[in-house]
Amino acid sequence: MSGTAAISLSARVDSLKASSTVAVMNKAKALKAAGVDVLNFSAGEPDFNTPQPAKAAAIAAINANATKYIDTAGDVPTRELLAKLLTERNKIPNVTKDHVLVTAGVKMALYLAYQALFDVPTVPGQPQQEMLLPVPAWVSFNPMAVLAGAKVIELPTTPEADFKLTAAQLKAAITPRTRAVMLNSPSNPCSTMYSRQELAAIAAVIAEAARTIAPQIVVISDELYQNIVFGTDASGRPAEHVSIGSFPDIAERTITINGPGKSFAMTGWRLGWLSGSGEFGKRFIAGLTKLQGQSITCVSGFSLAAMRSALTECDAELEMMRKAFASRASLFTGLLRQIPGLKLANPVGAFYVFPDISAHLGKSTPKGAVIASAADFAAALLDEHHMAVVPGEDFSQATGHKHIRMSFACDEAQLRAGAERLGRFVASLK
Ligand code: PMP
Repeated sequence: MSGTAAISLSARVDSLKASSTVAVMNKAKALKAAGVDVLNFSAGEPDFNTPQPAKAAAIAAINANATKYIDTAGDVPTRELLAKLLTERNKIPNVTKDHVLVTAGVKMALYLAYQALFDVPTVPGQPQQEMLLPVPAWVSFNPMAVLAGAKVIELPTTPEADFKLTAAQLKAAITPRTRAVMLNSPSNPCSTMYSRQELAAIAAVIAEAARTIAPQIVVISDELYQNIVFGTDASGRPAEHVSIGSFPDIAERTITINGPGKSFAMTGWRLGWLSGSGEFGKRFIAGLTKLQGQSITCVSGFSLAAMRSALTECDAELEMMRKAFASRASLFTGLLRQIPGLKLANPVGAFYVFPDISAHLGKSTPKGAVIASAADFAAALLDEHHMAVVPGEDFSQATGHKHIRMSFACDEAQLRAGAERLGRFVASLK
């Protein structure tokens, strides 16, 4: 047999960063399978089961032989339902079924969107198109956009601004090369949300840039946690999810992305959707449909029966889960605030905390591990206390090394046990 060492992978794949959240999650699962009592706070998925009506709808659809290929963009009843919800609930104008594409999870939705927006420069010296990314941001936005050919410009946000991009900061960052502004509200990992006023100010900056220096600018809005909202806004009123695509001036240059995974405990079904508005939105979705036709063809039709049921028949289950996340948020933040040297914001939506652990950098563990970064902190916590958290590095180049991300999509017993282990770990650092 001849040697295979000389066979290379594409430079594209060779240079691609692996997902740190998936890596920690897999490591925790492997330790658990090997019999170790691991407390896993790394997985961004609800511990609840998919609501029964959704499961029953999929089973019925399988029994009715909905097991063949469907329309590339998703079957008509699903796209019509999504267009109606986007119009009525998200208040996005000019959305029809032809403005919607259903794909295999929000990750795939983002992947397709980036592929359709960015070009790899073909002429030497030609500048790359830029994506503006407020950080800390979920770990896959950056590498997926880079893979498509974008230059990602990270815009560091601050705890004082609740980790949110300000309109002034955005205005200063837009250039003629700006192709996309990436937003995610509620946010993974910060669990903060933009208010209507903040989004209006951002939309005004984008509308102005579109008229002047950045005619190609679009907004990509990941609203996956839209239904998991429980906190209050700056004035103490219940926070409200607002779609930036609802602002008329930029509606037709906004791509809105969502999916049933987090809200309806359907992560493993691998479903998500994208939508546009008006002329560009329709053209964009047609382009993505071509791309989907040349990649995964379509999603499975019987899983869409489950998704339609989730979106129309499972409000009670959705509310039960939302309330559970609300009470877990308050329990977990209360427990974590008792641990010395941990600074954290109040979660408003989604199900994460992203505490600043920088007070402990420079210390060592009893086993002698030096904690120089969040990556060291997370590795030692897993090694010495069997608790899996995601180090912050991949969420922000500027400040990620000072944070860890923990998901509170787990039961109260685990939250109490986790806070206790984390407290013991922190107390052991010298
Ligand atoms: N966007 C955000 C903000 C996320 O947190 C996640 C999952 N952690 C995804 C996208 C990916 O979602 P999906 O599982 O539907 O691909």
